[in-house]
Amino acid sequence: MYFCIRDDDTSFFTSPEDLERVYGEVSQWGPISLAVVPFHRAGTSKAVPDKFRGRWSVHPLHENQPLVDYLRTGISTGRFEIMLHGYHHDEPHGRLEFASGAHLAQRIADGRKYLEDLLGTTIRVFVPPRNAIGRQGLRAIARAGLHLGGAAGVRSGWSPLSRKTWSLWLRLRLWRKSGGLGVPWVLDLGDHREIPGNAVTPASRIQHNEAIFESTLAMGGVFCVATHYWEQAAPSLHTGGPTVGEHLRRLIDRAVSDSRVVWRSVGEVVLESPVVA
Ligand SMILES: [Zn+2]
Repeated sequence: MYFCIRDDDTSFFTSPEDLERVYGEVSQWGPISLAVVPFHRAGTSKAVPDKFRGRWSVHPLHENQPLVDYLRTGISTGRFEIMLHGYHHDEPHGRLEFASGAHLAQRIADGRKYLEDLLGTTIRVFVPPRNAIGRQGLRAIARAGLHLGGAAGVRSGWSPLSRKTWSLWLRLRLWRKSGGLGVPWVLDLGDHREIPGNAVTPASRIQHNEAIFESTLAMGGVFCVATHYWEQAAPSLHTGGPTVGEHLRRLIDRAVSDSRVVWRSVGEVVLESPVVA
């Protein structure tokens, strides 16, 4: 089974200590794929500190030099992969940055170039803010040669004219009908690939994620964690459940204890694992 970890929301507002606290030890065992916001707008995201939230000012990553240095080191030692997480992330009036709009291709090109030059790396995966994507955003990703962290689906941009769309749709429908857990594959849409995430948040149930993990392991599939460094201390919303950090750690401990698990970056899994379409 391929295993990867996606962590969203690294930005100007992130300190090296924030990431080191969560990933300092575990990133020595396998890579962490960070979805990074190039020019975070201080809107409503919970990743924005209270004193900035709602100001709507724009904060480029390069203005946090200690973080830039930390990320560059982590990339060069293979501990971190960098993915693109929107451009501003937050938009006024509750708009979702990549759900629609004509300027998305430019934002992807500019945000990607900025992060690649600043951090000295190559970006292969785009993660939309708040997991919201649409037809225009998906086309922009595909034209840029990027892949999607997450799964769009028919309602969020898969082309209705593509044969691959409907073969995947049918495959996933049959999988769920037969009691299949999660989406244990990388999906090939022809012009790009998508890697669904298994959320590790306060709302997630550890029993559910462990069941998906075991069934995916048994079939030799793909299990990608999706979490946020900034809520690792948060308690579970479910009585008796572990904190987000404990939940993540249990999945990681399970992964590293089994020789059938191959831990790679999200980009490597997207490109190297067997795909379905
Ligand atoms: Zn985000």
